[in-house]
Amino acid sequence: MSNADVVVVGSGVMGAATAYWLTRLQPGLKVTLVESDTRYEKASSSLSASSIRQQFTCPVNIRLSQYGIAFLREAEQHLGLPDHPVALGLQEPGYLYLAQPEQVDTLQTAHQIQKQAGADVALLSPEALRQRYPWLNVDDVALGSLGLSGEGWFDGPALHQAFLKKAMAQGVQRLHDRVVGMDHTATHITGVRLASGGTLDCAQLVNAAGAWGGEVAAMAGVQLPVVGARRTVFVLSCPKPLPLCPLLIDPTGWWLRPEGRFLISGSEPLHTEPNLPLEPDWSEWNDEQWASLAHRIPALSELRVERAWAGYYEMNTFDHNAVIGPHPDLRNLYFINGFSGHGMQHAAGAGLALAEWMLHGQAQTIAVDELGFERLLHNRPLRELQVIG
Ligand SMILES: Cc1cc2nc3c(=O)[nH]c(=O)nc-3n(C[C@H](O)[C@H](O)[C@H](O)COP(=O)(O)OP(=O)(O)OC[C@H]3O[C@@H](n4cnc5c(N)ncnc54)[C@H](O)[C@@H]3O)c2cc1C
Repeated sequence: MSNADVVVVGSGVMGAATAYWLTRLQPGLKVTLVESDTRYEKASSSLSASSIRQQFTCPVNIRLSQYGIAFLREAEQHLGLPDHPVALGLQEPGYLYLAQPEQVDTLQTAHQIQKQAGADVALLSPEALRQRYPWLNVDDVALGSLGLSGEGWFDGPALHQAFLKKAMAQGVQRLHDRVVGMDHTATHITGVRLASGGTLDCAQLVNAAGAWGGEVAAMAGVQLPVVGARRTVFVLSCPKPLPLCPLLIDPTGWWLRPEGRFLISGSEPLHTEPNLPLEPDWSEWNDEQWASLAHRIPALSELRVERAWAGYYEMNTFDHNAVIGPHPDLRNLYFINGFSGHGMQHAAGAGLALAEWMLHGQAQTIAVDELGFERLLHNRPLRELQVIG
């Protein structure tokens, strides 16, 4: 096998975005993506709900979302190719978090952090919510938090494909193979071993293996607490329109948003063992869930469940936040892992930050130091208060 400057394990949206930025910032760099599933059947990037919010409580997540929304709005300029225009269908109706009285303090704390970070968010009284969304039952709601701009959803698989195509147009190679081992010294990765029998030497290695990121790190003797956490998404139809419907987060934990003429919805899983088979968990669709949806949106008492799918959150079990940057000992091993269900919106900024780190020794455009690997070693979790499902 020929050598590469950079080998990236996995070419989901994280691997593709990293390869795009590396070859955009340094044209001519020899980057090879190694991908075992070029149909992306199990990749989170194919199975995502692909929504974007500014309503986080870790400022670094807000910074990544601010970069993310600006990138999505200008995606054609970044990723367009003469024979492949970029159509992401970005819509920005906002996220609406609803709080019952005992959740109001948390929502207000989150609001202050978000305003300080420059997010365009507003707290709404039940009366204001009733006026804006007459189809919403807020009788048991004390407060709502709505993103006024910069929040909504888009076509995530199309973003993934656009990163891939642009990266390949910039000279990135994609190899259809599985990385099964790594060769390394105490301080450096020297290459990867492939299922096909070959090896690939590299100067730098990126772990962009999504839900399999923990397995790939273990090949270098590194413990990375990332596993596949199955999430089921239900596709619903509702005979009545829900004008201006945002991505709604119910106080009980479920979320729902429009998707074309349907709605999609998910909730906290009933079964939480890691790496469960990628089949929808129909036991989550029970009478209680149905009643809760119909309580919040009475029109949903007439809903139909059309179908369901399941995908993996690439869950960082340590603190549910991403790990971006180099390993402290194996200095040429880089991580872009563990986004725990909010990676699609952060891919553009995370890929840029990692590429800058690899080429210039630090992230320059977006400060992401808090997401470095060191926090795992020093047992300093970075807690996000607004985790969905
Ligand atoms: C149901 C669901 C809803 C979501 N909703 C949102 C949302 O609303 N907003 C948001 O921002 N994010 C959301 N996400 C999260 C988002 O989709 C992920 O964070 C993102 O897609 C992760 O991308 P990735 O490239 O890291 O992983 P993946 O897309 O899984 O790509 C990893 C790739 O690595 C390959 N690979 C693994 N091991 C090897 C190996 N040894 N050798 C070669 N290749 C290998 C795999 O085949 C895979 O293609 C959601 C995810 C799910 C599942």
